[in-house]
Amino acid sequence: MHFPIQILLKKHFLRIHEFICSHRSSSFKNTILLPQTKFPHKVSSEKRRQRDHSIEIDAKFEKLYDKQHEKLGSKDFILHDGPPYANGDVHIGHAVNKILKDITVRSELIKGRRIHFTPGWDCHGLPIELKVLKENHKYSSEASQIEIRNKAFLFSQKVKEKQKSSFMEWGILADWPNSYFTCNLTTSLAEAELEYNSNHVSPSVFIKFSVIKCPDVIRAALDPGSKLSVVIWTTTPWTLPANQAVCYSPKQKYCVAFCSTRKEFYLLACEMLKDFEKTMHIELNVITTFEGSLLKEVTYSHPISKDRECPLLPANHVTMDKGTGLVHTAPNHGLDDYVVIKKEQIPLDPCIVNEDGCYNNYTIKELQGKSVLDAGSKLVLDFLVNDILHLEDYKHSYPYDWRSKTPVILRSCHQWFIDINQIRTKAIKSLQNVNIVPDHFKKVFQRQLESSPQWCISRQRAWGVPIPAFYSSDQNKPLVHRILTDHLCSLIQKHGIHCWWEKDVNDLLTPKLKNQLKLPDEIYYKGSDIMDIWFDSGISWKCVLPEPHISDICIEGVDQIRGWFNSSLLTSVAIRGTAPYKTLVLHGFTTDADGRKMSKSEGNVISPEDILSGSKKNKIPPYGIDVLRWWVAAHACQSENIAVKMEILEECTQNLNKVRNVFKFLLGNLNEYNPSIHITSPTHMRALDLYMLYALKNFYQKVEKQYSLIQYKGVAKDILNFVTNEISSFYCHLVKDRLYCEAQHSKERLDCQTVLHFILSTLIQSIGPLCPHLAEEVFLCLPYRDAANSVFVYEWPNLSKFLESTTVPISVTWANQIRDVILKSEVKTIEMEAIITCSSRITDELQNLNKDLKDNTGLNEFFQVSDVKFAECHENISESLVTLNGDLNLSDGENGCFTVSLLKTKQEKCPRCRLFTTSSQTSLCNRCAHVLNVPLSHQSSV
Ligand SMILES: [Zn+2]
Repeated sequence: MHFPIQILLKKHFLRIHEFICSHRSSSFKNTILLPQTKFPHKVSSEKRRQRDHSIEIDAKFEKLYDKQHEKLGSKDFILHDGPPYANGDVHIGHAVNKILKDITVRSELIKGRRIHFTPGWDCHGLPIELKVLKENHKYSSEASQIEIRNKAFLFSQKVKEKQKSSFMEWGILADWPNSYFTCNLTTSLAEAELEYNSNHVSPSVFIKFSVIKCPDVIRAALDPGSKLSVVIWTTTPWTLPANQAVCYSPKQKYCVAFCSTRKEFYLLACEMLKDFEKTMHIELNVITTFEGSLLKEVTYSHPISKDRECPLLPANHVTMDKGTGLVHTAPNHGLDDYVVIKKEQIPLDPCIVNEDGCYNNYTIKELQGKSVLDAGSKLVLDFLVNDILHLEDYKHSYPYDWRSKTPVILRSCHQWFIDINQIRTKAIKSLQNVNIVPDHFKKVFQRQLESSPQWCISRQRAWGVPIPAFYSSDQNKPLVHRILTDHLCSLIQKHGIHCWWEKDVNDLLTPKLKNQLKLPDEIYYKGSDIMDIWFDSGISWKCVLPEPHISDICIEGVDQIRGWFNSSLLTSVAIRGTAPYKTLVLHGFTTDADGRKMSKSEGNVISPEDILSGSKKNKIPPYGIDVLRWWVAAHACQSENIAVKMEILEECTQNLNKVRNVFKFLLGNLNEYNPSIHITSPTHMRALDLYMLYALKNFYQKVEKQYSLIQYKGVAKDILNFVTNEISSFYCHLVKDRLYCEAQHSKERLDCQTVLHFILSTLIQSIGPLCPHLAEEVFLCLPYRDAANSVFVYEWPNLSKFLESTTVPISVTWANQIRDVILKSEVKTIEMEAIITCSSRITDELQNLNKDLKDNTGLNEFFQVSDVKFAECHENISESLVTLNGDLNLSDGENGCFTVSLLKTKQEKCPRCRLFTTSSQTSLCNRCAHVLNVPLSHQSSV
């Protein structure tokens, strides 16, 4: 039974040793040069992690960063690390991110660049502060800011150390001893900390505001001297004292309606009239209707400060879902309200609610100090009792603080902003020079810059960098000055960042400084805001990168277009008008096998440690570091979501085993080869060897291109294809006889070993960035390596230079096509001789493959047959077992048709090399006799 050779070859390398030993005449066993290496073709599950660790030690992973940094004269390659959050254990997303970065820097390093990769952590921010508060069972108001800060610092350092040791285990090559942290540098509640209580009960109030001015057309419809009111509806009556306007929709119809029971005229939207009648249990007569746009001339008397005249304003957020179509507007307590007031350029009133949720002294005396949600709210309703048309309880969904489970209120406060309008155009322009992978994200980024609002950089928390501002106690106006900031910086350098909180205001803003700045003699107090965490990490380019503070590349998840990529660009453009990076690479997020987000509550989390060391709970065997990294390269280098699937990890393992097997073959056959002594010249190599070297050169050029385009998926695919199709089932298969049976230092064998030496070098350089552990493991087993100790700083031979003055004869391509046809026959060719019938031109070219070679071995080797002959006409070949036809498709239109006749050879099997090249089973073939130095006449004694 015959199998196609390609199928048999899959197991070929595993079996070669056993095969030779069992079938060769035992007297020649010791004359065969079998591969010898300590490199294992497979690593058992149990030993995988142990092996990873011992490679790290033997190959001195930890020393590589410093070692490569000593390379003077190399061009620098700078990767800027976007800092991960130091608030929990590492997850698979970290592995994707850090491994992609590592592949990138290693691919540059192996090309000869000197790399800069300073890893960082974001140690600030609300998640860390909240974790600390939660673990200490305290709310922020009960713990002192210094206490929170100390605990947050210790917590983030602990997490950072843990994450760091994982990153190092993944083989990430970086400047670990000099990593950066944003805290050596949080908020009114952000939306993420709110939860919604659907059973919250609020007072629902319909209330009237007296109209002061209105257009004559409306006035004319009323009875002379009668009163007109606008009617609004609210569920937050505590905000009524903060009313500044009433909003209407200019697209809707409004009306004046008369209530005969109350003898009052009401102004409201036509569409809401029915609902209003139902709620009030009254009937209304519509006196007149008109377009909403007419309302712009209406004013009314403020519900609390009756002397104050307030406007009606057009607004898009007014809907006809509930209420009256007229919306009470308190811009200090609602975003829509705030936006309208700003748009109409109406000055904002001071906020009447303090940080504790009580009325302050900007409102009437009766309310001051009262909690807005309890006593305050009731007082307001009492105060307005004569204006209330209807009051009832109203159950609805309302935001709660998830920690204290209490309802929250919205209030405006002073914040610091970066004026994006001043830098928007510049930022968009500087983005044009940035290379973004994949490139459609450039548009996304640009659109975001076009529409981004002002950047609020202040937060009302403790865990962060203080904003160095002082306020005078009476004016509430901030005092910031370069001199003050410089003074603070020197204090912080001397005493640490805590001094802002620890020191008295007079030690920070000293009388001397006050004098210098000619400040009036007032009492000042410190601001209590900290910087937005995105500001901290957004200036890391300035603090971390070497001059000129521009990185060659940044690699982060797609969400960082809104985050770190954005904040870094804005700070850099603001400070110096240019982007802080040249290339941005975006990768996707990891999901479980079904595409769901991994989360502890779902129980579907697979951690990097599970993949490395196995997990009984998740039924995952230990895969080791090579598989994790190969998986990242082959499956996670894209901007879409990345599913972690067991089948894929299994497939990665099998693929890597194929690569391992080839490495084992190469190492085994390079045993006792030393290129400095044994390297041969390509000018006299046989065509097959040259062909392989050129294929290798093309392969590496393709791989280098894929690396430069950050297409690591393509790198992995190219490596696998090349290893399987060109190396394993082609070259290594064809040259076994030469390697095992030719004399050790014969030209035939050394040529072949020289090719293997280049294959090994190229393959190590290709796979090294993806799987540095595997590459170093191979390198440690390489007999001729020097003490350079690392694949990444070794001076690999230059293949292009080696091939400089050679070309590959066209005949190799033809021979290859003929070989493909022979392979399809599924015949055991080694026992056959081939007779080829083709044009004389092809015959001449093919015969070149045998040129200068004894016994026509060039073509025999190529076709794996005992002999190759040429005939003018194949009809005369009567004993042919198989006749195969093909066409070489010559580009110049010449006849490329050929016929191959395979017939059983009349030669016998040589007892040493097992080729059918000898005259009797008991005598060696000429080649073997020559290798063993046996005179041909003595053959019969064998
Ligand atoms: Zn032989």
